[in-house]
Amino acid sequence: MISCTFYQAFRRVLCASVVNNVALQFCASFCITKKLYFLVTQVYSDRKERYFCCMILFDNTEVAFRKNTDGDLRRAYWLFRMIGSPGLVKFGKWMTNLALKIRLPLRWIIKPTIFRQFCGGESIQECIAVSERLASRNVKTILDYSVEGKTEVGDLDATMEEIIKTIRRGKDNPDIPFAVFKVTGISTFDLLEKANNGLDALNEEETAAFGRVKERIEAICEEAHKADVPIFIDAEESWIQDTIDRLVYEMSTKFNKERAIVYNTLQMYRHDRLAFLKKEIERAKQEQFYLGVKLVRGAYMEKERNRAEERGYPSPIQPNKEATDKDFNAALDLVVEEIDQVSFCAGTHNEESSLYLSDLMKKHGIKNDDPRAYFAQLLGMSDHISFNLSNEGFMVAKYVPYGPIREVLPYLIRRAEENTSVAGQTSRELSLIIKERKRRKQK
Ligand SMILES: Cc1cc2nc3c(=O)[nH]c(=O)nc-3n(C[C@H](O)[C@H](O)[C@H](O)COP(=O)(O)OP(=O)(O)OC[C@H]3O[C@@H](n4cnc5c(N)ncnc54)[C@H](O)[C@@H]3O)c2cc1C
Repeated sequence: MISCTFYQAFRRVLCASVVNNVALQFCASFCITKKLYFLVTQVYSDRKERYFCCMILFDNTEVAFRKNTDGDLRRAYWLFRMIGSPGLVKFGKWMTNLALKIRLPLRWIIKPTIFRQFCGGESIQECIAVSERLASRNVKTILDYSVEGKTEVGDLDATMEEIIKTIRRGKDNPDIPFAVFKVTGISTFDLLEKANNGLDALNEEETAAFGRVKERIEAICEEAHKADVPIFIDAEESWIQDTIDRLVYEMSTKFNKERAIVYNTLQMYRHDRLAFLKKEIERAKQEQFYLGVKLVRGAYMEKERNRAEERGYPSPIQPNKEATDKDFNAALDLVVEEIDQVSFCAGTHNEESSLYLSDLMKKHGIKNDDPRAYFAQLLGMSDHISFNLSNEGFMVAKYVPYGPIREVLPYLIRRAEENTSVAGQTSRELSLIIKERKRRKQK
């Protein structure tokens, strides 16, 4: 019994840690008991198999870049090389903020470079060419109006109108199967933060403003329901997320009676989200509505940790990356098991998780093209995952951000920072581009 627990614990440690294959082989050759030896070699061969599967499914740069001309690849190569330099990205961010402040023209430099890589256009109309290109590879489009940080009522209403337009564009259009929005696009951040402690905390004026936010959300979800275009509601900082969760729940009970139309987003870098997902599934069963979830790892890790430290409360973030990965995959287990109740989208650029989900679907007899199970990536990133998955017949979509150039700059800066190299390493996007350029030269 004790030895069995020991073996299980040992196996878990081996699986969870980032011990490389050489270390595993080293361990294997020194293990004394037969069982331990068997255990180690099994973990090693699991890892090898998983790695090999990743190679088969995602390492095909010919499939990933089939629609990219040599010129496209050259542009992307130089772009990722530049944003691979932390110093250059810091300088670029500083320059951009300065240019915004003194209203220097930016379009001539931003539009043909970083904007072209990561955005579909400045308007829905401009995104259509990108959407058609994606559709020709069996990848769908999620139009993402990426304007943030507005505070005036007129601007918040205008953002709501634009989101509604993205839903209408998706109506009867199989190439645009979802719409998406951030609650901070249609509400001020401060109001959501104050409401996070309960609506009693709001004064009269704030209560009225919050009522208007709810009306906007309801108008969006109602339109999504009418057009039969499911809508993703993005997850944001933990100190406004309870408010968002409550609003999404209210909308789900109303609009998810026939199928999942309203999707919440769960950030698995939070250590409480797996338990939250289990509760949400139970609640959906009891109250008889379909649950929609987008699973992501989470985008605000540093901000979350810094705030928790500054204010002296326990960080909501997992202790390490392995814990986040483990919960992300555990959440995939859950939603796949409960697919009759839950429709889901795995929003990730992680190859292992994408492979894990595709394997899980196979194990549970879920067809690759089941519309309740989606994979999603961001435009301009991880094409090797998107196009290799779509090539295998899985349901794949790309967020296609759009908006006036000045308005989407914060989004672009985040993309640049995300692709900045760590300790001089080449980013994954850049190494894939290099590989494909080499392959073409050798042809
Ligand atoms: C289609 C799509 C939609 C998205 N929507 C949202 C959204 O609504 N809200 C949102 O917040 N993000 C969203 N994201 C971003 C997402 O949360 C991740 O930041 C991003 O995708 C990187 O994670 P990954 O799974 O792709 O891959 P990986 O590169 O494997 O994971 C990186 C992520 O792991 C986590 N991580 C890294 N180091 C640690 C550590 N030391 N301890 C704990 N965790 C760690 C962080 O979340 C980090 O972003 C979305 C991404 C996609 C592709």
